Amino acid sequence: MPDFSLLFLLSLVVVAIAWFAWPYYRLKQALAAPFPTEWRRILARNLPIYRRMPTDLQLQLKQHIKQFIHEKHFTGCAGLAITDEMRVTIAACACLLILNRKTGVYPGLRYILVYPEAFMVQRDAVDDHGMAGQRKQGLLGESWSNGKVILSWDDVIRGSRDEADGSNVALHEFAHQLDHESGATNGAPILGSAAGYKRWARVLTAEFEALQRSAYQGDKTLLDYYGATEPAEFFAVVTEVFFERPLELSQRHPALFEQLHGYFRVNPVEWRE
Ligand SMILES: [Zn+2]
Repeated sequence: MPDFSLLFLLSLVVVAIAWFAWPYYRLKQALAAPFPTEWRRILARNLPIYRRMPTDLQLQLKQHIKQFIHEKHFTGCAGLAITDEMRVTIAACACLLILNRKTGVYPGLRYILVYPEAFMVQRDAVDDHGMAGQRKQGLLGESWSNGKVILSWDDVIRGSRDEADGSNVALHEFAHQLDHESGATNGAPILGSAAGYKRWARVLTAEFEALQRSAYQGDKTLLDYYGATEPAEFFAVVTEVFFERPLELSQRHPALFEQLHGYFRVNPVEWRE
């Protein structure tokens, strides 16, 4: 007579193994599939920086993009229908920030919400008379520590195709996601060592305070004044400039460039077509 309790236990083990193994199997399949030709065309069209990257980094980026699209849920907002062009362009911007590292593809990020253009949000605010209330605010993007990024597609595509303006909302919001991974959104992503954090804090604090002074005096700067609002915004703003105007950043802010070069593990100054 069969031992039903043993059979039950065995079937539980099989179900548990399948439960955990199935997502890995699906991911392996997604990574093994060829990168679609149409996706390559989208990269060439929407991400000028991709054309200049060395081949090994292009290959890495394409693998990351496949994983990103496989794992994250894209949702269109305000009637927007999500297309491959949106998925690939947004995934490419996100994955540009995680080359040459083995930390997974934004493991804490689940949802990408895409609006057709700048979207309105309600925010707590204090008016000129000190009264607390709510204020409507237009945003191009937003990053949440609970695994969510919200983007305006109109601004993603504009920022991504024009790489010389130093402004790219997708790079900005995904830099915030990296910042969230360290547990506190404070302008310091995971840096690995106490010495690393110390160097980062010294260089970035000095640069942040210099930008605050420039903003106060109205000086012309390479970095957008928005970076002077708080350290988390500073990291997001300098990330945009590191990838979009690397040569100028390396010449005008060498110590800052060196910190970002160390963190992002790539040197966009060397990427030539
Ligand atoms: Zn920001």
